[in-house]
Amino acid sequence: MSSARTTVLSILAAACAVSATSCARPEPYTAETFVMGTAAWVTVAGVGAAEAEEAAQEVFREFRRIESVMSTWADSSELSLLNAGAGSGPVAVSSELFALVDNSLRYSRETFGAFDPTVRPLVLLWGFQGGEPALPSPDAIDSALAFVGCDGISLDDAALAVSLSAGAQIDFAGIAKGYAVDRGAAILERRGIRRALVNLGGNIYALGSPPGGRGWRIGVRDPRGGLGTVGTILLADAAVATSGNYENFVEIDGRRYGHIIDPRTGRTVDGVLSVTVAAPTALAADALSTGFFVLGPVEAARAISSFEGVAALFALPNGVRIDYKVIGEFGRRLVLGPETDGPR
Ligand code: ADP
Ligand code: MG
Repeated sequence: MSSARTTVLSILAAACAVSATSCARPEPYTAETFVMGTAAWVTVAGVGAAEAEEAAQEVFREFRRIESVMSTWADSSELSLLNAGAGSGPVAVSSELFALVDNSLRYSRETFGAFDPTVRPLVLLWGFQGGEPALPSPDAIDSALAFVGCDGISLDDAALAVSLSAGAQIDFAGIAKGYAVDRGAAILERRGIRRALVNLGGNIYALGSPPGGRGWRIGVRDPRGGLGTVGTILLADAAVATSGNYENFVEIDGRRYGHIIDPRTGRTVDGVLSVTVAAPTALAADALSTGFFVLGPVEAARAISSFEGVAALFALPNGVRIDYKVIGEFGRRLVLGPETDGPR
């Protein structure tokens, strides 16, 4: 697995958001940390540095708290305790975990099962969470698939309890960062901050717009890797997320297998290089970028009609070239091309 996981989308605008004539206004302030296995940034404009720093630290504390609830890397997290109870009846959980399980089931339904929170037995089998990566045999894939599927989860709303069938395991890696970003943005709003960017490993929410601009300019990373960008999205009061194969993969016999798995086949997906999704919330952008990656552009175009305000940019391999395909409406928010300054 690639060790250094950097952000998928980079902020192009933060540094140049304030024009030379606005010297009375404080510069946007950016704080950075490492949490949930990735880099996190909070950029705040329109308030002083001390207030921005305090707000960013509160967001980072919230990210750490969510990690301690949702991580499957720590045996002590609430999600790990729920997984440990699979096959032994209902487990009472926090209202927060209950709501996220409920939400993840909804995204699973609306992506025809492509986003699947029960994919964990396959994630483990392929070696995406420790162990020595090895190509699983078809039999091993079939055995793991028997434990995958949302019918392995049942919810008791009144008791706030979740039952997992024997062998079922939940993995929120495809949704937890988006959830955390929404919580972070809500913290900033509660503090009266109106212009900010919250970025957790490429899951981004833009609060308002930077001073003097119509939105925050978000660079879409080159799906082949590296630091180049292939387009720009102008974002205001909306979210964006990218799922790609270029940062998180295992290498088996010299071939790379990306970390997104098709829960219908048990195989990793290789027909797509990356999917960038814009959505009203970071939770939706995160879940749908993973789900659309599995679906591919044709099926994703059918799924997208269930959602308001969602658009997606697919990068598809075509020999040595890359084809870009848009589904839904970015409108003037998206400009493709590495040389562009982007929309303003
Ligand atoms: P990242 O974690 O890089 O932001 P994603 O949001 O696309 O990327 O989530 C990918 C992770 O989600 C994988 O590492 C795996 O743990 C899990 N996963 C893999 N396939 C699926 C799937 N079909 N549905 C839901 N989660 C998945
Ligand atoms: Mg995701």
